[in-house]
Amino acid sequence: MATLDDAVDGHRELDLSGEIFRILDSKDVPRLVVDYVMFHEMLHLRHPVEHAGARRCIHTPAFKQEEKRFVGAREAKAWLRGLA
Ligand SMILES: [Zn+2]
Repeated sequence: MATLDDAVDGHRELDLSGEIFRILDSKDVPRLVVDYVMFHEMLHLRHPVEHAGARRCIHTPAFKQEEKRFVGAREAKAWLRGLA
C-alpha cells in the first residue's frame, strides 16, 4: 500500500492512491494540508519526470523551487509525516 508519505514527499508513482483521497476526505485534515497536496500534485503536471540515466527525478530542482511558493508547505509536510 502506498503511504501518504510516498504520495506526498517521495512518491515513485505520479498517480495518487485511493488511500490519500480517503485521508484528505476526512474532516480531521487541516485545510492547509488539503490545499498543499493539491498544489503539489498540480506541480507534477507542470513539471514532468526527468530522466538522468537510469534514475528518475520526480521532484526536480525546478519543481522544488516552485513548491516553495506555497505558504505553509513546511507545516503541511510536517502534519503529513505525523500520519505516516
Ligand atoms: Zn510529488
